[in-house]
Amino acid sequence: MTRTPLVAGNWKMNGRLDMVGALGASLSGLRNSRAEVAVCPPFPYLAPLVRALGDSGVQIGAQNVSRHQDGAFTGEVSAEMLADLGCRYVIVGHSERRALYGEDDELVGEKFLRAQQGGLIPILCVGETLREREAGETEQVVVRQVSSVLDVAGIGAFDQAVVAYEPVWAIGTGETATPEQAQEVHARLRAALAAEDASVASRIRLLYGGSVKSDNAALLFAQPDIDGGLIGGASLSADEFSAICLAA
Ligand code: PGA
Repeated sequence: MTRTPLVAGNWKMNGRLDMVGALGASLSGLRNSRAEVAVCPPFPYLAPLVRALGDSGVQIGAQNVSRHQDGAFTGEVSAEMLADLGCRYVIVGHSERRALYGEDDELVGEKFLRAQQGGLIPILCVGETLREREAGETEQVVVRQVSSVLDVAGIGAFDQAVVAYEPVWAIGTGETATPEQAQEVHARLRAALAAEDASVASRIRLLYGGSVKSDNAALLFAQPDIDGGLIGGASLSADEFSAICLAA
């Protein structure tokens, strides 16, 4: 099975309007990338980024979505609104939202479903903390996180989804999982999905995230079950992000 790699940049709560224009210009060089490329800026920059990227082929994603449909939910943003703006992807279950905003497996499952119902492709993030890794619980944690979504959405839904393995201890720390460590978890995740449906499992893209940079991307992306990356800090530099995309 040949899967088209996906490299998605997660700006988190960073960036300003001037970055949007600069990025639009520099990412046009990515037409030659083998990978599909996506950028996930904060909500206010989605529409300007859609305009700046024009017909470059670079996709846009959001970093969060409401579990509700449109209605009286002050401060929330619905999947339908994001799709309306031209978003293709939305990140759900990022460890920062789990840790800082109390998002549990149940809420992540609801957001995953809502994203799909609203016409978006969820990028479902899973990953263990350092304590969980040291306790030998890595596989158990990531399989639980995926299974809780499988339970509500069913395996068929994963044909329109992406899973990102992001060990919490590697996010924003400069410490990257080794290619072997990451591959081991990716293989386990694919096996968990294959137990439900082997062909869905062979098609789904599994991204690695956690301190990916231009100098470690190629080795990570060369692993058989790593189909690209979710890039935080390094996506804020257009040159660095472009180099990572071209490594996929
Ligand atoms: P990082 O973040 O690349 O800065 O480690 C990755 C992420 O949180 O998606």
